[in-house]
Formats: sequence, structure tokens, C-alpha cells
Amino acid sequence: MANLGVFGGTFDPPHIGHLILAQSACEQLNLDKIIIIPAGKQPHKSNLNISSGKARLEMLELAIAGDDRFEISDIELGSDDISYTYKTISRLRELYPENELYFLIGGDNISDIETWMKPEEIFGKAVVAAAMRPEYEPSGKFKNDIRLFNMPPIGLSSTEIRDMVKNKRSIKYLVPEKVENYIRKNKLYI
Ligand code: ATP
Repeated sequence: MANLGVFGGTFDPPHIGHLILAQSACEQLNLDKIIIIPAGKQPHKSNLNISSGKARLEMLELAIAGDDRFEISDIELGSDDISYTYKTISRLRELYPENELYFLIGGDNISDIETWMKPEEIFGKAVVAAAMRPEYEPSGKFKNDIRLFNMPPIGLSSTEIRDMVKNKRSIKYLVPEKVENYIRKNKLYI
């Protein structure tokens, strides 16, 4: 029975924090594969300034190229409905009935997962695993249900990368080189 990681996000753009989280989870949770799911219409974020699904998908493909532990799913991008994590997890539960699912989140999501829609469905159908961050201690109703793994702290977000591009600062080494080239070629975030 394979262990599958499920890693969702906006990935606008994907950066080394995402890749190091996925790599750390893969190793410490013994995952055979991680399905990376770029978000469709999101309940938590305004979609106004988010790059197209196509651009985010293409950047992710470039970011993970050559690492066959990672694959990308367009399960959320392919739907016009708002993407709720509980629905995505339910769908994956049906698609992979034999596999253990590990839903991966960054430390900053530990405290707010409780506020997402139908968290009990997420916790009932997958192991929720979070990258440990000393400043984000699990608390609340699902406190003891969150599995923690370590990753070197990477103080970086996609928002910062977008701001850096806008301010003409270099993003070299913060995103894979092919992603950096894609951003430049497609004039994203300027
Ligand atoms: P934004 O700045 O646009 O909100 P982001 O960098 O937080 O983007 P998302 O695509 O929203 O990236 O994040 C997807 C997942 O990756 C989330 O679970 C988030 O917590 C996690 N994540 C993002 N950046 C990091 C980081 N530097 N370290 C650990 N986890 C991260």
C-alpha cells in the first residue's frame, strides 16, 4: 500500500519553500509519491490578482521536472466550482481507496485549518501533516491529530517573490532557474 502525499497551494509562483517542504515530507513520512494540486477558485483568497491556472501549472511542471516522486494534478483547476480542501480530499479518497493519504501543510496553516470548511472530513480521510515551525504550535480541536515533520525553516512566500519581481530585485536561487526564466519570459508580476 503506497503512501501518497497531497500538497495543495496557489503556487504563484512555486518556490524553494514548497519544494523543501515536499522533499522533507517525502523522506520523513515515507511517502511514495506526492500529488501537487494547484488551487482552483479559492475560498480564502481573492482570485483577482492570481496568475492563470495555466501559468501556475506550467511553473509547477518546470519546478518539479526530473523528480519523479512528484506529480501534478489538475483536479482543482479543471473545475469551475470553488475548491474546498475537504472536497478534493474526498475525491482523492475515492480515486485511491487503497492508499494512505497524507495532506501536507506549512506551519502557518496549523492554526487555521480548524477554520476551513468541514475540517473533520479532511482529518477523517487523510493524515494531516504539517511542517513544524516553533512559532506555530498545534492548538484547538485537532491539536493531537496533526502529524508534525521537520524542515529547515525557509522564510519565504510567493507574495515576497512577486513583490521582489515587481521591485526589480533578483529572485535567483529562491525559485528554480526554469521558473525564474518562465516568470521573466512571460512578464509575470511586473
Ligand atoms: P502566498 O504568499 O501567495 O500566500 P505561499 O508562499 O504561502 O503563497 P501557497 O501556495 O499559498 O504559498 O502555499 C502552499 C502551501 O505551502 C501552504 O500549506 C503553505 O503553508 C506552504 N508554504 C509556503 N511557503 C512555505 C515556507 N516558506 N515554508 C513552509 N511552508 C510553506
